[in-house]
Amino acid sequence: MIQAPRGTFDILPDSAAQRKVVEEQVEKVLGAAGYRRIETPTFEATDLFARGVGEATDIVQKEMYTFDDGGGRSLTLRPEGTAPVCRAYVEHGMHKLAQPVKLWYLSTFFRAEAPQRGRYRQFWQVGAEAIGSAAPETDAELIVLLADLLQALQVKETRLRLSSLGTPETRAEYREELKRFLRKHEDELSEEVRSRIDLNPLRAFDADDARTRSVMSDAPILLDRLNEDDAEHFAQVRALLDDAGIRYELDPTLVRGLDYYTRTVWEFTSDALGAQSGVGGGGRYDGLMEILDGPPTPGVGWAAGIERMLLAASDLAAPADLVDLFVALAKPDGNRTAFELAREARRAGLQAQLELAGRSLKGQLKHADRIHARWVAIVGENGVVTLKDMESGDQHDAPVQNVIPTILRGGAKS
Ligand code: ATP
Ligand code: MG
Repeated sequence: MIQAPRGTFDILPDSAAQRKVVEEQVEKVLGAAGYRRIETPTFEATDLFARGVGEATDIVQKEMYTFDDGGGRSLTLRPEGTAPVCRAYVEHGMHKLAQPVKLWYLSTFFRAEAPQRGRYRQFWQVGAEAIGSAAPETDAELIVLLADLLQALQVKETRLRLSSLGTPETRAEYREELKRFLRKHEDELSEEVRSRIDLNPLRAFDADDARTRSVMSDAPILLDRLNEDDAEHFAQVRALLDDAGIRYELDPTLVRGLDYYTRTVWEFTSDALGAQSGVGGGGRYDGLMEILDGPPTPGVGWAAGIERMLLAASDLAAPADLVDLFVALAKPDGNRTAFELAREARRAGLQAQLELAGRSLKGQLKHADRIHARWVAIVGENGVVTLKDMESGDQHDAPVQNVIPTILRGGAKS
């Protein structure tokens, strides 16, 4: 038996209906702020991610589905959406449009990870990007929009962590300072942290070991090293969030998985999720456009995982499908009048279904009841139809041409 590949899943109709609700909320929340949809290809030149996400990141090192297209080109299934959107911005000369260009997407992404609850190899993300503005209002607006979306979807027990990474130069200097600090305390650190001082000194902040933690409580913090402009920018973002009543925890150890972040970074988690607690996050990426050979252009954006949002949401009810008319057959054999009636009803804007399974008349009525059909038209011979109102139980005979007008007058569900 062939099964769906490991780490992938089917979206069955009930789930598709629920996801439609998510998409409608995305459209509503982001549309209200002037963000418009963009969709980019499922695969891109590998180089886009190598440069745009960063060679040193987990994504590029371990998680990409990369293949040769047969013509000597290396392609990669997109692991994230920011680099492709920036590629499209440059390719279509969007710097000539009014700035910032505000975009959102909702589509599939691919990462070769160990599958677990909330972690898949093909998954869905919604993302928003504002390209062409360095204003702190843009950062705050995007954070507020993600908070609003999570609230609209009733994602439970969310928490926002916030920080600023400053510039790459500040970060590089800070990294050296942190390494010096760690080396000075080398004999108090856990073996694991000690062995990674050069590779990833920031990991030391996540250590569980008690002695390491006590050392780290005095460690230098990047937030204290921001230059004046970056510190001022961050202060403004925070003031706007405070005014908006958005609560957050300052987390100076917040590192996002992408190399290109500058200044503001944030992440929403949900305590309703287990180990995979990240719901969505983002940051500012003022240097990215140049890395992609575009004109220097500031940008900021976020992405959130659809599956994790659904896992952490209180039951997100999708409205039931509305069936206006079920066309039943008095006799099981092919009935052209019935077929035509169903088709005409759909043309008139009704949701109409035709008996397709050869059920007995009794079975058809049971089925119509199960799908909550508002009306049933039992098509007999000579075009005579028995029209049954499933709400009142009343029924009467009518010529076939009267059926649709009667339904339209008498109360279709939709
Ligand atoms: P994590 O720390 O869980 O690996 P991440 O930092 O790699 O997350 P991002 O690159 O920031 O995640 O992606 C944004 C969001 O996309 C995440 O917060 C999460 O909700 C979702 N996401 C990321 N990777 C996966 C995955 N493999 N399966 C399902 N959802 C994912
Ligand atoms: Mg990850």
